[in-house]
Amino acid sequence: MVMTSLPVSADRSEQIKIETNTDEVMNELKSTKIQDYWNCRGELTVVDDIVMKGSKYVIPYSLRKQMLQKIHEGHLGEVKCKRRAREVMYWPRINQDISQTTASCEQCRIYRPKQQAEPLLAHPAPHRPYYKVGTDLFDFDGKSYIVVTDYFSNYPEVGQLQTTSSKAVIAYLKTVFARHGVPCELFSDNGPQFSSCEFATFAKEWGFQHSTSSPIYPKSNGLAESSVKIIKTLMKKAQDREDFQKSLLIYRSTPLQNGMSPAQMLMGRRIRSNLPVNEDLLTPKTAHKVKEAKDGQKVKQKQLHDRKARHLPSLKPGDKVRLRDITTGTWRHQGQVKEEVAPRSYKIQMEGGVSLRRNRVDLQLHPEGKDTESQETVQQDKEKSTESANRGSEDARSGPSQDSASPAAERLLKTMTSPQGERLVRPKRHVQPPKRLIESC
Ligand SMILES: [Zn+2]
Repeated sequence: MVMTSLPVSADRSEQIKIETNTDEVMNELKSTKIQDYWNCRGELTVVDDIVMKGSKYVIPYSLRKQMLQKIHEGHLGEVKCKRRAREVMYWPRINQDISQTTASCEQCRIYRPKQQAEPLLAHPAPHRPYYKVGTDLFDFDGKSYIVVTDYFSNYPEVGQLQTTSSKAVIAYLKTVFARHGVPCELFSDNGPQFSSCEFATFAKEWGFQHSTSSPIYPKSNGLAESSVKIIKTLMKKAQDREDFQKSLLIYRSTPLQNGMSPAQMLMGRRIRSNLPVNEDLLTPKTAHKVKEAKDGQKVKQKQLHDRKARHLPSLKPGDKVRLRDITTGTWRHQGQVKEEVAPRSYKIQMEGGVSLRRNRVDLQLHPEGKDTESQETVQQDKEKSTESANRGSEDARSGPSQDSASPAAERLLKTMTSPQGERLVRPKRHVQPPKRLIESC
């Protein structure tokens, strides 16, 4: 509250005014911008340089226009847009801004629904997801589609059909049931694809009751029918510029009247869409159990591996060895140890003057005094060794990458030739591109 007269002398008051105007903190306090946050001051925190209101991001002024676009991207109505935004972000007068954005959208004006959705849900609400589902077919833009909607969560599944035969419909329903489970009851209309023998057999085999609308109970498939309307509207609005799948994602992740989104009701978690969301809101309550179990498993696996793993005895210069061919997994080639060049890594002298470098796990000590098999030609051996895949060994990491197939690599090989005229050939290094940051939208 700003008072007009204060109980101080005129001189003093003038002095305070001047000093107030030059005081940074006082200026901030006076600013109307900061006063907008007065009502929620108790909820504001700063996390990683971001101002949060509870678990929601407080969006700075410069990003609000962009966020409004994202909020309205699926062209859902004003109420849904507000629910969707309120869940994850905040700024003063955000509701007003959303109203303005939806009211001024050309696409939404063109495809405004004729009337309010008809009252439905003569069905009692099921007690869990995928207990009762409804399905319906529709055509859009010359193509046939099928919608499957869960009565518990209103989560829609949409698929394109090549034909509208029983066979095609059954094949699609199977993919949906494989994902979400087989419902106890499936509702549909009396279309030929649903009244066939084939469909009755499917229902029997997969163990669900199939109900169709009857003259007494004509609106039994109301949910699937209203889902079709919603999906068709999404398709129409998305048709020109935007991706229908994105609109579907936005629809599935937008809270319904009860404050929960279809995805949340079906899967028990929020799904990440095109709005920035705090990790806490995306992590289901049971996630820590999964993480603990997985971490425990890793420790066990390491213990098990370490128990089985054993140190191979080190090799001496002059030891005769067999070399594992990394591509075939056989131990056909033989050589003699020259020296240990790194821990567990040896330089092996092959016949014909070629030297190879190998990790200890790929070397087998040859029983003494036996040297029966003739060696393969050195050329072949060299080729195989350079073809070999990365094994994450010290060898692979310590040298420059090379490829014997290219002339450049051939030259590189020559420069690596040692004064003794031997060639040092290493397994080809596998170059992994750097992991890029996943772009946040
Ligand atoms: Zn719109």
